[in-house]
Amino acid sequence: MQFSNDQIKRLTEMGAAPEDLEEVFPDSASANKAFQKIETRLSRKLSEGIKNYLKNGSRPEGAILKEKLSVALCDFGFSEVETPLIVSKKLLERMGLDDESALTKQIFWLDANRAIRPMLAPNLYYLLVDLLRIAPHPVSIFEIGPCMRKESQGARHGEEFTMLNIVEMGLKMEDRMARTLALARLVLETIGIPFESCKVEEESSTVYSTTLDIVSPQGLELASTAMGPHPLDAPWRIDVPWVGLGFGIERLLMALKAQKGETVNLAKVSRSLSYLGGFRLNIS
Ligand code: ATP
Ligand code: MG
Repeated sequence: MQFSNDQIKRLTEMGAAPEDLEEVFPDSASANKAFQKIETRLSRKLSEGIKNYLKNGSRPEGAILKEKLSVALCDFGFSEVETPLIVSKKLLERMGLDDESALTKQIFWLDANRAIRPMLAPNLYYLLVDLLRIAPHPVSIFEIGPCMRKESQGARHGEEFTMLNIVEMGLKMEDRMARTLALARLVLETIGIPFESCKVEEESSTVYSTTLDIVSPQGLELASTAMGPHPLDAPWRIDVPWVGLGFGIERLLMALKAQKGETVNLAKVSRSLSYLGGFRLNIS
């Protein structure tokens, strides 16, 4: 016999190697004994990891990644903005998120007219209406911040995640594709993922009809990109060519780990009460 599903779940959370989980035992007593032994060994390792994290003035990997990206984008001439987490129903409707849209069902409503943002785009559109009027074109901005969507939780989806949204409006039509690819390359190479290792795929999107997705070598969607002029521009009275890229910070962390041969689920690299610095906390 082998370890029970509960035992496998527990050992996986604690970071057991795949070969530890495959062992075969003559009876349940010996399986339980082996489980205890591995659990004790992993507990010790995790407790060392947590003590080291606390001793060394550490920061979450996500925080370090966000800072690296902010610095790189600012050096590249983009300006950072911070917008509210709460968005109005009116702004969401302008994104085509009406009662019929699939994404609408994923929105966390606070009351009849206000929700937690499921994306950064409506706020950035809103700002750009003013910025395009005031400043010379192109206007190049980005935001990094939390978004929330109701998801049927999985290894790649969290209800809370962090989006990096880069938008540049007032470009020349013919420059849009090259600019999209250059910005995707900048983000990936800033954090150490070779652009060439990723795939660029055409996808259909509920919001932008067709988008180009950036997909990791493991097949994980890292970003969706969009271009305008676009039908969604009309309610904002925006009529200049633009590009936009939305990356998931946690997905980037997962891809970075995968590149080092480590398979992790989203929970390990997200805001958490169960992990600190990637180390599982509820250990004996
Ligand atoms: P997916 O197809 O993986 O569900 P999506 O196409 O619905 O993602 P987008 O609206 O394109 O997501 O959001 C831009 C990026 O934000 C995604 O490419 C992904 O990296 C990240 N992202 C979106 N939803 C989540 C989530 N629930 N948890 C973690 N990251 C997410
Ligand atoms: Mg997408």
